[in-house]
Amino acid sequence: MIALLEKDCGLRRKAEILRWIESRGFRAHVTELPDAALVGVLGAGAEELAAALLALPGVREVRPESPPWPLVSREHHPEPTRVRVGEVTVGGREVIVAAGPCAVESEGQLLASARAAAGAGARLLRGGAFKPRSSPYGFQGLGEEALRLLQIARAETGLPVVSEVLSEEDLDLVASHVDLLQIGARNMQNFRLLAAVGRKRTPVLLKRGLSATLDELLLAAEYVVSAGNPQVILCERGIRTFERATRATLDLSAVPVLRGRTHLPIFVDPSHAAGLRELVPALAVAAVAAGADGLLVEIHPQPEQSLSDGRQSLDLPAFARMMEGVRAVATAVGREVAAG
Ligand code: PEP
Ligand code: MN
Repeated sequence: MIALLEKDCGLRRKAEILRWIESRGFRAHVTELPDAALVGVLGAGAEELAAALLALPGVREVRPESPPWPLVSREHHPEPTRVRVGEVTVGGREVIVAAGPCAVESEGQLLASARAAAGAGARLLRGGAFKPRSSPYGFQGLGEEALRLLQIARAETGLPVVSEVLSEEDLDLVASHVDLLQIGARNMQNFRLLAAVGRKRTPVLLKRGLSATLDELLLAAEYVVSAGNPQVILCERGIRTFERATRATLDLSAVPVLRGRTHLPIFVDPSHAAGLRELVPALAVAAVAAGADGLLVEIHPQPEQSLSDGRQSLDLPAFARMMEGVRAVATAVGREVAAG
């Protein structure tokens, strides 16, 4: 629930209102807007306080029907949030492309990918260190060694790095090596992990669960933000439907729907959605046309040799060609993509 305070509500009165909310077992989160203070009343059943809250001096308006994810809602924060990942700003005019291999496999594979990514205009380097594999017999990632290789690649190319954290157990380790912590689709509702990344200062890339609604994605983001970390980027990566022609169904409606509901930046991952590299460029340009703030794309110097997700990974020349299309569409919709 959201409450708006009177423009001239003084500090003392504001403090009384917050105390009143907190004494009833709810949390209050204040955002100063140009013409009013906006108070997010956080906690299950907050809407039952609506009438009593509205009766307090200094309260101008109460919106009990506002969404159950107040902190990430656009109502709460009308301006788009910009997330800083190293030196890169996500959520501005520039469309940010994160590219790299599904999993870090070797120094040679990672460096070749990183150089090609940077050379084609990508601004972030992806690379899985801890991999969530459907089969326990699949390649699980190089773990800490991969994190070390990502740092080498970052030092060489200057690209900030993004890698997935699979469990709370690895969080300190992963957070100390990466610029952006990825929460994978399968962990979107791992609530303890969400709260734990919320206690970190590292920005978070939160992927939509395979069967999660957009409201559930926003609630997951609310976990992170309400635990103290406002630096969250959402990522649509395809959902499971009855269609079998693609690995998942890319829900591009997610982009404009989320744009209307939240101030957080929105990425699209065409690779995991398509599952097939030949479909990735079309989905990538469509995502940019739909208003995505960034893309997450899998590339590999020799996709057929890849230890994971080779079928959906673009080879390096194909990635460079994809970037030309992405750049053209970005320009057409008033955005820009870094030069290659
Ligand atoms: C990934 O990006 O490496 C990944 C595993 O994606 P997802 O969690 O969307 O399946
Ligand atoms: Mn992958």
